[in-house]
Amino acid sequence: MKKRRTYLLLWAGALLLLWAAFSPGGAATASFQTAVYENPHTIIVAVPGEKATTTGDHISLYGACDYDYPLYLNGTAIPYTEHGFFAQYLALQMGENRFTLENNGVNKTVLVIREAKTPATPDPTGYTPQGGHGVVRLDNITHRQGPGTSYALLEPLVRGVACVITGRSGAYYRLADGSYIFQSAVNYSSAALPSNRVLAFKTTPLTEDRATEIRLKMPVAAYYNVEMQAEQAVLTLYNTGFAWPPELKENAMIRDIVLLSEPGAAHTRYAFRFQAGVRPAAYYVACRDGGLVIGFRHPPAPAESGDLSGMKILLDAGHGGSESGALGAALTASPPEKDINLAVTLSAEEYLRGRGATVIMTRTDDTFVSLVERVALIKQVNPDISVSIHNNSVANTTDQTITKGLLVCYSLPAQMADARFFADALSAALERPQSGTGLYLSNLALTRLTNCPAVLIEAAFLSNPEDYEWLLQAANQQLLGTEIGRVIEKRLLNQ
Ligand SMILES: [Zn+2]
Repeated sequence: MKKRRTYLLLWAGALLLLWAAFSPGGAATASFQTAVYENPHTIIVAVPGEKATTTGDHISLYGACDYDYPLYLNGTAIPYTEHGFFAQYLALQMGENRFTLENNGVNKTVLVIREAKTPATPDPTGYTPQGGHGVVRLDNITHRQGPGTSYALLEPLVRGVACVITGRSGAYYRLADGSYIFQSAVNYSSAALPSNRVLAFKTTPLTEDRATEIRLKMPVAAYYNVEMQAEQAVLTLYNTGFAWPPELKENAMIRDIVLLSEPGAAHTRYAFRFQAGVRPAAYYVACRDGGLVIGFRHPPAPAESGDLSGMKILLDAGHGGSESGALGAALTASPPEKDINLAVTLSAEEYLRGRGATVIMTRTDDTFVSLVERVALIKQVNPDISVSIHNNSVANTTDQTITKGLLVCYSLPAQMADARFFADALSAALERPQSGTGLYLSNLALTRLTNCPAVLIEAAFLSNPEDYEWLLQAANQQLLGTEIGRVIEKRLLNQ
């Protein structure tokens, strides 16, 4: 998950050459070869480096050594793995702390300076009233219940939505329903929002992406909220007048549309009531065609062949190119996260194609792809599921000797069931532990989505000696990819 940009270009070049030698003409199904790790026959202190300053009371020491010789820390032998990876979690006194490592006649001293903690500033609770309105200028923006990271995420807002602003707090604007968005995400105007109302409805019963789409024509694409309930979805359009909803004719997804708000109310609310026993797999909102479009995705229909024919699966290999992701015990002398992610993702792709699925990849080689580009592809493709594949790393103040295992990340409460399924099924298939509860709720661009089920897998920790040693092995990367493929298949086929 952690980004480090100090990746040695020399090593990347060597890796590229190695990869080119194994890649048959850049075919999408080319199997990627991660560079083989060779013992450095010296001490490499990956964490915390030669000198570090921290306010923590402990620090992790993590690195690689010559595995033909014992390794000593301040004169005492310490253990390392088969590949020569070691980790220690060390108590710190205030001021200077020196740790000396010795291995095959080489000495390395690490200086750690512990400073006093500055008290953290809590997130603000209030706001300063402010008028005007703002138009969201970026897609898929962070939207929260309060003005700070301690507040829950709400569904992301799409580009083009016009919001009445009622106040500001820190870096955020407050909206009509008391939620908050970043000031940097909107074009602000001190003018009041022009008066707005729904003028007409237009329904497309089944789009190419198997969605029932309802277009609400209105002068201004209103700030909205969608509440997915068991038997209906409730759409609130803020500062917008109503129009009577149309009658639907035998739609496979939506039974009817009901006006919930009083005619004349400041905000209009519609319930889209689902057909009995039917629930959309996902939904999306877009500003286009002179208003707002809301689409309800039909659940994937399993093919008669019993395989994944007709299903679209998006696989996203984390990082790439200049962004190496987390680094392992020997820093740039051992494979970085981006290469492991790619090898695993290519293996998952191979499995899923073999089961008849259409697989869309955000990258198939060592290139940089921005988060914006990755999200744009997911929104364009509307896959039946999107799975991002990463591996993990923790800060040096966390105990790296015990922080290990599988985590599945998600961003919105509705995604928790998918995340739970992936964590449990993958952990059982690989016979590998989950880290803590196996789930991690986080504001991530790749999971802050409603248009398809979306999870982000952090398979293991590059910052833990045992996890990293497991991850390094080509056979394990292949196995991990195949098992991710199988879990996706189970989820889509409801097995
Ligand atoms: Zn990552």
